[in-house]
Amino acid sequence: MALPAVAERFLRYVQIDTQSDPSSDATPSTDKQKDLGRLLEHELKALGAENVYMDEYGYVFATLPSTLPAERASATPVVALLAHLDTSPDESGANVRPIVHENYEGGILALPGDPSVTLDPARQPALLQHVGHDLITSDGTTLLGSDDKAGVAVLMQLAQDLIGDDAPRPTLRLCFTVDEEIGRGVEKLDLAKLGADVAYTLDGSATETLYVETFNAAEATITVEGVMVHPGYAKGLMVNAARILAGLLAALPADEAPETTKGREGYFHPHTIDASNASRARAKILLRDFDDEGMARRKAFVAALVEQQRLRHPKARITLDVKDQYKNMRRYIEGSDRRTITFAHRAGEAMGLTLVEKVVRGGTDGARLSEKGLPTPNVFNGGHDYHSRFEWNTVQNLALSLAYTKHLVRYWAKHGAGGEWMNGETEDRRQN
Ligand SMILES: [Zn+2]
Repeated sequence: MALPAVAERFLRYVQIDTQSDPSSDATPSTDKQKDLGRLLEHELKALGAENVYMDEYGYVFATLPSTLPAERASATPVVALLAHLDTSPDESGANVRPIVHENYEGGILALPGDPSVTLDPARQPALLQHVGHDLITSDGTTLLGSDDKAGVAVLMQLAQDLIGDDAPRPTLRLCFTVDEEIGRGVEKLDLAKLGADVAYTLDGSATETLYVETFNAAEATITVEGVMVHPGYAKGLMVNAARILAGLLAALPADEAPETTKGREGYFHPHTIDASNASRARAKILLRDFDDEGMARRKAFVAALVEQQRLRHPKARITLDVKDQYKNMRRYIEGSDRRTITFAHRAGEAMGLTLVEKVVRGGTDGARLSEKGLPTPNVFNGGHDYHSRFEWNTVQNLALSLAYTKHLVRYWAKHGAGGEWMNGETEDRRQN
């Protein structure tokens, strides 16, 4: 079967190992991410994109110049489109052998490299919405790498399709980032070099979905220092730090944990406990909440628990340190240019799609970019069940993601030069 060019690209890119490594302090954390970066750089140059280069950190940049008349082009925001090169450290990304399963019939699919790995609608209900699609999986021994090589393939195909096409588009900046999977995706990204007014990451999952919210995230570190004496003669003297800390953690609400929440519900997540002896114990607790008030309540709850234990154990020294990690990106997007959201919806409507807004129960590169002043919602690339050997995408989803991205670009070209109408709603209605 002849595959669309975007799928051909995808099958090529997933075979290049680009796994990132959280234990490395270098940027990129693994040199092999540059293997794909160099290939993209080479291909973008061959396609005729402008200002193509890879910087010292492995970020690849390219420009597709605007096709609008000069005056209108300069009044239209520069749109950046981003995808990340690396794949998750959770599962091997070496020797990925992608397989296209034509015309999926809705049943259980055993992957040939390891038949114990199956795609099963009972576990992966989204499969049932893809009956008739041509499924793409790994052979079951590795992840597929759709996160985010689907985004990479879509942007590269976009470049090929748009260069030489004079249909209206704003100036587009393509950017391929490194180390997203280890939370350092935009750490070394120079926003001045990117030179964009608005941006989108193509790192979302299910089609027809727009991701504009992330958690508010903080981490609380509680340290308990007790008093150690010989346990045989400890009455009235010993203060057991491990026991105090255990009591504190036991008081966290069990129904507000990662394993008991979904959707917009936040949680407490004690993830590291350190108590090599009874005199000193420390716990790190992730606090997650979509709302500011909710986050404030979680911080206050932990502080109250600590205070309670201090009163109960005056001889122990209990310290609490709370650090904010990232914020729900919606406020930053709405505060800078909320058209990034409204235009994303209108672009979908222009091709008959109704985009649903979903929350990301985690962080994204877009959250950090939005916080830095570049509003960056996350759009879909069609993949599912990321970071696992059960990962899949479909030929049709890749094509849809590409078609949607073209509509998004076109929408900005048509409506982006809003001038005095900086509020997307108003401008948009007037022009339609
Ligand atoms: Zn990703």
